[in-house]
Formats: sequence, structure tokens, C-alpha cells
Amino acid sequence: MSASVYDLVFDVLRSFPSAIDELVGSNTENESLLHENVTIGGAVAPGKEFRILQPLWDLRLGREAFVASPLFPVVLSVTFYFTLCSPFMAADLWGKKWKWLQTFKIQPDFDVTYDHLWDTLLITFWNHILYILPAACAQWVWTPDTILPPVAPTLFEFVWHQFAGLIIFDVQYYVWHRTHHKIRFLYKHVHALHHRYAAPFCWVTQYLHPWELITVGFLTTTNTWFFNCHPLTTWSYMILSIIVSVEAHIGYDFPFTLNHLSFGWLGGAPKHDMHHLKPQTNFEPFFNHLDRLCGTFCPVMSAGGVRPNDLLEYERRQKETKKIR
Ligand SMILES: [Zn+2]
Ligand SMILES: [Zn+2]
Repeated sequence: MSASVYDLVFDVLRSFPSAIDELVGSNTENESLLHENVTIGGAVAPGKEFRILQPLWDLRLGREAFVASPLFPVVLSVTFYFTLCSPFMAADLWGKKWKWLQTFKIQPDFDVTYDHLWDTLLITFWNHILYILPAACAQWVWTPDTILPPVAPTLFEFVWHQFAGLIIFDVQYYVWHRTHHKIRFLYKHVHALHHRYAAPFCWVTQYLHPWELITVGFLTTTNTWFFNCHPLTTWSYMILSIIVSVEAHIGYDFPFTLNHLSFGWLGGAPKHDMHHLKPQTNFEPFFNHLDRLCGTFCPVMSAGGVRPNDLLEYERRQKETKKIR
């Protein structure tokens, strides 16, 4: 067994007790580590305690003032969002003549134009100037600096805290989303803006009414508070949420996207694309289980706009139901 695989297995096994402690509300292991670890220039002393994420966490060394600042998570998430969307924007603009790329488009008849970019980026820009920037300034003034523990989270804690955060957000947003489709006033005055595009593309992710932007931002931020997450876990969860949200809106069904790598757990772009086409279905933002349980799941189109048999059957049943009514 190679050293890195050994370290991984060892780290996972050793994490179980602290994860169970976390579950019952005790954080004693981390607290004791905080107090007991011998540090050299802020790093954990070699041989004292090793965690597989420690090298990643140690990247903060020498940059503590910036990393601990309440502005850091805002800068990180905003920078990451624009960086992640940019290649998909380039694909939309300049990949129109690449036939191989077009075969992955879920709605191949929809062309992203400069007008669409201008429209979505303008809303995104104003949302950042009018809401995100003042919120960041308020945090900077009133929120204390993040406490940076010397020890990284265990791999188990790092993974399950993020997974739990996604599951909780998934439920919260399902309820919020379905309510904002069900109540006409809320749909018309809040969520309809996001549905201006029946075929999503990357910048539609944050093409949101301010109330939706604030709700999503608040839920994403506060979900990690339930678990008293390590800062590395919190920031990684923010990044993961952005990845899953952007992926849902890219409009391409690539074979390497998370919906293909998660054994059907994640809905990805095909599922959310279908929500933009049939807005009374597929309310769940990340996973599939709630939509299936609550009867709001609609089978999806795949790359190239292919309508599989389960979707054709679903549409046939919908037409029959309408006729009976
Ligand atoms: Zn959407
Ligand atoms: Zn919707």
C-alpha cells in the first residue's frame, strides 16, 4: 500500500471517534488538539499530529491576516464564481462552430448571444454592487476575524460536514423553490426573473431577484454553523455549492459532470434544464430523492436534446391527464 493511500485510510479510521463526538455535540478532540498541539511558526509540529488535509490547511501560513479577514470568504466565492463561469461563457460564444461541443448541448437550438450575456451579467453586476458589496463591508466592520486553528479538519469530518450541508440546503431550497412557484405573487415578483431563460447558460446561475440571492446566500452561509465547521470545511462547502449550482445551469450534458459521476444522486444540468423548460417539475437544486418522493420529478433530456423513452412516456401521461381534466 502506498504511503498516501495508507495515510488516507488511517486518517479516515482515526476520524470516526471525533465525528461521533461532533454528532453528540462535543468538540473535545478538536479543542484539545487546539490547545495541545505544539506549533512551529503556526504549523503542526512533525510527528505530533498529522492529518491528510494539513498540507492544504498550511497554505494559509504567511497569509493569516488575509485568510482570517471576514472579507476572505466573499472574495473567494465571488472570484471562484466568475472564474468557473468564464470557460463555459467562452464555449457558448466561440464553440458554436465546434460540432463535437454542440453534441453535448441539452437544448441545441438555443444560441447564447452577446445580448443574453449583457442582460445576465448586468443583473449579476448590480446584485454584487447593491447587495453583496454592502453585506461584505458590514461583515468587515462588525464581524470578528475568523479563528484559524493550527490543525486541519479530519478527512471524514471535512467530507461529511459538506455532504450534510448540501443535504440540508437541498431540503431548504426545495421548500423555498416550490413555494415560490406555487404562490403566484411570489413567482411573479421574485422567482420569475430567474425563469426568463427557458434554456439556461452559466450566467443564469446568479440571474436572481435580490430576495432569492439573499436567501440563497444566507442559507449557504448559515448551514455550516450547525456543525461548528472548521474554516477549511466552510470555505470548501461554499466552493462546492458554487460548483454544483453553476453545473446545473451550464446547459451542457458533459460525460464528466457530477450527475454522471454520482450514480444518479445529483441532478446536474439535464435535470435543472428540464426545470427551466417545465417549471412545475424538478424543484430540487442538487439531488433527485425529494423530487421523486414528492412526485415532482420529470425525466430529463440528455446531450443533443435527445428525449429518452421515460421522458416521452411522462409527456404522454401528462397530455392524457390534461385531456381528462
Ligand atoms: Zn435555474
Ligand atoms: Zn424555478
